[in-house]
Amino acid sequence: MTTAEKDGGQREPRRSVARCPICNQPRSEEYRPFCSKRCADVDLGRWLNGSYAIPVTEDDDEDGEEDLPASEKKPDDGVS
Ligand SMILES: [Zn+2]
Repeated sequence: MTTAEKDGGQREPRRSVARCPICNQPRSEEYRPFCSKRCADVDLGRWLNGSYAIPVTEDDDEDGEEDLPASEKKPDDGVS
């Protein structure tokens, strides 16, 4: 019997594989951090389209409860 692997052998199966943020597949070294050029383009397109910008939704209240006070904030009046 061999006692070489008494230390455990440092064999961790859970090697964190970086995944593509777009499709969640193992990414490619060539197109990292994406898995392919396609996903890279998708990500780029999202940036260009502003999809990453969180849309400001004013109607974020609970459903059915619209007891908002009078709008105190007035938009800029067109003073020209
Ligand atoms: Zn991908």
